[in-house]
Amino acid sequence: MRFERRPWAEPFKVKVVEPLKMTTQQDREKYIVEAGYNTFLLRSEDVYIDLLTDSGTNAMSDNQWAGMMLGDEAYAGSKNYYNLEANVQKIYGYKYLVPTHQGRGAENMLSQCLIKKGQYVPGNMYFTTTRLHQELAGGTFVDVIVDEAHDPESDFLFKGNVCLQKFEDLIKRVGGENIAYITIGATVNMAGGQPVSIENIKAVNALAHKHGIKVVLDATRAMENAYYIQQREAGYANKPIAEILKEFASYSDAATMSGKKDLLVNIGGFVAVNDWDLFEELRNMVVIYEGLHTYGGLAGRDMEAMARGMEEAIQDDYMASRIRQVEYLGNLLDEYGVPMVKPFGGHAIFLDARRFYSHIPQSQYPAQALAADLYVNSGVRTMERGVVSAGRNKDTGEEFMPKLELVRLTIPRRVYTQAHMDVVAYSVAELYENRHKARGLKMVYEPKYLRFFQARFEKI
Ligand SMILES: *Cc1c(COP(=O)(O)O)cnc(C)c1O
Repeated sequence: MRFERRPWAEPFKVKVVEPLKMTTQQDREKYIVEAGYNTFLLRSEDVYIDLLTDSGTNAMSDNQWAGMMLGDEAYAGSKNYYNLEANVQKIYGYKYLVPTHQGRGAENMLSQCLIKKGQYVPGNMYFTTTRLHQELAGGTFVDVIVDEAHDPESDFLFKGNVCLQKFEDLIKRVGGENIAYITIGATVNMAGGQPVSIENIKAVNALAHKHGIKVVLDATRAMENAYYIQQREAGYANKPIAEILKEFASYSDAATMSGKKDLLVNIGGFVAVNDWDLFEELRNMVVIYEGLHTYGGLAGRDMEAMARGMEEAIQDDYMASRIRQVEYLGNLLDEYGVPMVKPFGGHAIFLDARRFYSHIPQSQYPAQALAADLYVNSGVRTMERGVVSAGRNKDTGEEFMPKLELVRLTIPRRVYTQAHMDVVAYSVAELYENRHKARGLKMVYEPKYLRFFQARFEKI
């Protein structure tokens, strides 16, 4: 028998297809120069397999598309808003909901409501938009993630966990009253899609509340996090992820959400809270930035698609196929000896560019160079998560030199087949074999905010 274990497959089949343009290596060499070696600046039609992000790139189901036709496009009180509210209450357990156009809309409002100028905002590693909104609101982000998260070779199973000692040290140093709240990202995107355990969030909640500090969940991939708890944490193996998610969320006071990830839609987000006064404030603020509190920058049909996506995403069968597809790609690359962050993340495989291109110094952006090379090799688009994404220290102007210098191969949900994953793995392996030929980059244009989106480079 060829199989070691019973093969798994997706609990859905393909109903509509989108043809892809095939390009030659010569074409792609030209396109990457035009894009300044930044994969964000490529045209999507010139990309064969797009692993840039899992954000908004999901394939919706027939049920979600049917829901789009039932969009109630009233300015106020759309029935789709009430469907979404009911599902957020049922699935996540928060009391009050304000929809937003996407996650950063929620982050902007929550940061402005909760952060007083000069306060600290600890979190289990930064996320780009989250930290920026905290800073714009006058806060200072402090990383309190466990040390294992910074080590791509550590096989610790909950590398997303908060280091309670670091959190407690911060409380002692600045005082609980100078901490606006603590953000728990789950899974932790920048650490490689690494999960947080229930035991950890429970302990964080207890410590935070003892000092009057709120716990804010970045719930963007909390459903995927719940799958890992089911697989890895003692006592949860027989619980459905729906139940685990609800328990997990119960240890937070509020959540910001990018529906573009877990919730199987192309646009949408929300902020959800348990505190009535905070809800009132958010409901006042949303009309300035997003729209009325019953649509928050979304069409009624978008809210319906998100409400339905939420129900589909929380199914155990779906989630197992989602994560195991990512694992499939990781296992293939492992066979070729490719250096990666381990354990594999829920939404992506992260190549360790520091070890992959060990001859290119971090000041020459090895991860950025590897992402560009991968595109030229096979038309696979990925993104840098290293020094370019980390940006500069806002006080000294110096570049952050993060320990993790990664290329993210992010798998969109329900979009690509296992055969696509084979093509990706082959291409990465080929680059790895020829790695000594690779050269670094120099930055020739640097935007002021979130520079990784629009920076331009040249080959050294
Ligand atoms: C994508 C993302 C966000 C921001 O959400 P957008 O919908 O892109 O605005 C926040 N946190 C995490 C962990 C994310 O992955």
